[in-house]
Amino acid sequence: MKSKLVVMKFGGTSVGDASCIARAAQIAASAAGENSVLVVVSAMSSVTNRLIEAATLAESGESAKAQEILKAIRHLHEATLRELALDAETRIQLMSHIDRVLADAKRLCEGTALLRELTPRSLDVISSLGERLSAPIVAAMIAALGTASEPVEATELIVTDGFFGGAEPLMDPTRQRCEARLRPLLQKGNVPVVTGFIGASQEGALTTLGRGGSDYSATILSAALLADEAIIWTDVNGVLSADPRLVPEARTIPEISYREAAELAYFGAKVLHPKTLRAVMPHEIPVWIRNSFAPQEAGTKITAKGRSKAGGVKAITAIGDVSLIALGGPAIVGLPDVVGRTFSTTARVRANVLLISQSSSQNDICFIVASADAKRTVEALREQFSQDLAHHKVEHISLDPRIAIVAVVGENMRGTVGMAGRTFSALGRESVNIIAIAQGSSESNISFVVELHDMRKAVVALHGEFSLGAVEVNHAERSSHL
Ligand code: ADP
Ligand code: ASP
Ligand code: MG
Repeated sequence: MKSKLVVMKFGGTSVGDASCIARAAQIAASAAGENSVLVVVSAMSSVTNRLIEAATLAESGESAKAQEILKAIRHLHEATLRELALDAETRIQLMSHIDRVLADAKRLCEGTALLRELTPRSLDVISSLGERLSAPIVAAMIAALGTASEPVEATELIVTDGFFGGAEPLMDPTRQRCEARLRPLLQKGNVPVVTGFIGASQEGALTTLGRGGSDYSATILSAALLADEAIIWTDVNGVLSADPRLVPEARTIPEISYREAAELAYFGAKVLHPKTLRAVMPHEIPVWIRNSFAPQEAGTKITAKGRSKAGGVKAITAIGDVSLIALGGPAIVGLPDVVGRTFSTTARVRANVLLISQSSSQNDICFIVASADAKRTVEALREQFSQDLAHHKVEHISLDPRIAIVAVVGENMRGTVGMAGRTFSALGRESVNIIAIAQGSSESNISFVVELHDMRKAVVALHGEFSLGAVEVNHAERSSHL
């Protein structure tokens, strides 16, 4: 009997080419020497984007261009297989699996082009194909290293509601399916390789958990099987004090709380899907973020308590692909139900509202949603308030995509006097114009809206203000796999 159950998720870049896949397989196989290991994989990097592009092209009738993309995806996987140390028979089997999956993709794109309609349900099926291509390859590589391994489709495991493009798991049936399908494999020492990002509704329709959702798949499966820990293998040394693409001197945070990491993910730190920690929080399963390109680095440990840090601030984060929606006009004061109607409309279209601000005169309500949700939210609001617009009770419902949210995150900020003062003085010195500040924000963050062109400047200024680039003494502990 192996000592622990470890769930390992490999992101798109960690399975991005043959050498990455070989390295990921090596990490999983060597961990399996000591522990029970369940692997979750993403599609090879860029494949999901390309599949979505093919689906969108098909919708606008550009069938030939969509087929070109599918051919390029076939070529990528074929070239990858050629480079991997696999025997001829395995390679032939994998290639015929790839051809079967891509034949499905071709049919789906043809159907979409014929109807000129891409339903959320078909988009989910098409965008899920990348994980269905990568999982059997990773399993074959682990098996080639001498550790029994088999691919498992998450549609057999993760039961979700029927919300295509952002489904939520139903944990009771998911737990039952995981016990029935995965536990016997794990007990035999087999390493199951599950397709990330995907689930299926109770009626059996394929759903996805939202872009970047493989992180969430890993923690859903960790919770379902009560794993001892989850390790999310990615392309950076853990959760950093800022996005390294914005602040090159950002540092790894050795330990952080669920709450802080969730705030960071929610406010744009792409390293974690925003819902990732929801699944493991009730069970206090630790989650590690580690670099598959530098497995010698300890990474970041995310736990219930985290670790306090003097000064309170742990990280600065930002999201650029968001839009500000404002609903205004002098008569808004006289419409008592306007707030209720606004947010029941956003809830109905499932737009995720990231930040809300209301002007004190109540003539204006503004809130921020992901740019991908903005158009349908504005359309739904215009419909909801059509009478009020016609009678000029509401004067405008406007949309501004040229903004960004910046958040300062850290659990101990609540007890630390002067954090807001330092934040806004630092921004003032850099002449960053603040458009709105969050109302009723959680005490583990200060979040505000700036113009998109000021986003980088704001993040760099605050990273400097709170000395987040300074080296910290590291790590009392390491995850199971070194
Ligand atoms: P994966 O393909 O492994 O899921 P992602 O691209 O989704 O990886 O997430 C990792 C990326 O997240 C990093 O390469 C980095 O650019 C970005 N990122 C943004 N903010 C942070 C942060 N605070 N800490 C670490 N990485 C961050
Ligand atoms: N492949 C999916 C995406 O690109 C899921 C993931 O990588 O987490 O969104
Ligand atoms: Mg990701």
